[in-house]
Amino acid sequence: MSETTKKLVRRREVSQSINQYGVFPVTVSGVRRLSEHFVRVSLTGRSLHHATSAISDGTGQVYDAYIKLLVPPAHASGPTMIELDDTWRQRWMAQPVEDRGHMRTYTVQNSRMVPAVGMDETPLLGMFPAAEADLSVLERPLPIGVQPEIDIDFVLHQDDAGQLGPAADWAASAQVGQQVSFLAPLRGSSLWSSWNPAPSHNLLMLTDETAAPATLSILRTLPAHASGTVLCEVPGQGDNLAVLSDVQEVTRRLPQLTVKFLPREPNSERGERLAHELHSVFNLTETETYHYTDTTAADEVVWGLAEENAETYVFIAGESSVIKTLRRMCVNEAGIAKENISFMGYWKCGRAES
Ligand SMILES: Cc1cc2nc3c(=O)[nH]c(=O)nc-3n(C[C@H](O)[C@H](O)[C@H](O)COP(=O)(O)OP(=O)(O)OC[C@H]3O[C@@H](n4cnc5c(N)ncnc54)[C@H](O)[C@@H]3O)c2cc1C
Repeated sequence: MSETTKKLVRRREVSQSINQYGVFPVTVSGVRRLSEHFVRVSLTGRSLHHATSAISDGTGQVYDAYIKLLVPPAHASGPTMIELDDTWRQRWMAQPVEDRGHMRTYTVQNSRMVPAVGMDETPLLGMFPAAEADLSVLERPLPIGVQPEIDIDFVLHQDDAGQLGPAADWAASAQVGQQVSFLAPLRGSSLWSSWNPAPSHNLLMLTDETAAPATLSILRTLPAHASGTVLCEVPGQGDNLAVLSDVQEVTRRLPQLTVKFLPREPNSERGERLAHELHSVFNLTETETYHYTDTTAADEVVWGLAEENAETYVFIAGESSVIKTLRRMCVNEAGIAKENISFMGYWKCGRAES
């Protein structure tokens, strides 16, 4: 670690905590419009050598790992850097949004090693590991000539007034060479991830477009004997990410797994196609017409993990009220035990991520 970095890094007491995280400055190294509703932004930087191994090893085995993107305010000339200590969150939230920008959660859809082409020559500068971080994890020789790169697939969603959210807006106009930053676990710390299936690998995955990147990334990690059904509802016909990614290749390796991307019909409601397909997977009769209803309170956390060793593992992620409905259907209609279900409300209709 350089002397400059040592000065920048505030070290408090070293703890045995395995949840250490830092702010990683990175450079946009690629922008690819995948479809009408998705843009893929690639981010690279030598700082990523110090991220949790799933990211820094660049093997693409990232599961549903997520990071916290620090969307810079409009006038910012560089990435948002936050000095992390016990009170950083309160301090950051107390600032006017025009000054601090926004923090948004995104999945690392893929990771790889790329040649270190000098895109980002600021390895650790300005990276502040959290208070109590054990900085010894950073003290290792870095691989020469290569650096990690990750992909984030952003949904370009609009609100009723046709406005993109701040993160979607940032992604829609991202340029190669631009700098940004995100929070992620440090090397040696656990991945921020919810994927926890039993070894049986008999799966049911129900996801929407925001969890399409997690779906792709998880498919990449599955063993050849994985079986079950993966259903992902997306906004439009062109949004079949499996066609647009390397996942077709991946699914060829998984003959016992049915993977379907379900474009929303012009008149269908959010979650309707998932609910319909779920009924046909279990040969259930649809007793009532599906209607999307917002049943999630503003401060409600729709999140729970399946117990280990579940026989059939169910992973439901996407819009919170849809997730609640699908979970209820799985339990009440399909007879799946609650303990077998991981459910994650990734976002709430009509409400910005705080
Ligand atoms: C663990 C995790 C992983 C995630 N991974 C991804 C990912 O890989 N890709 C991704 O695109 N999103 C992902 N999300 C969801 C993403 O964090 C939210 O969609 C977030 O609200 C987007 O921020 P924003 O600034 O664009 O919009 P916000 O400012 O948060 O919201 C503005 C408005 O847009 C609405 N809105 C937000 N998202 C959508 C949407 N998708 N469709 C329609 N309306 C929407 C909100 O309800 C609100 O009314 C993930 C969330 C979690 C918790």
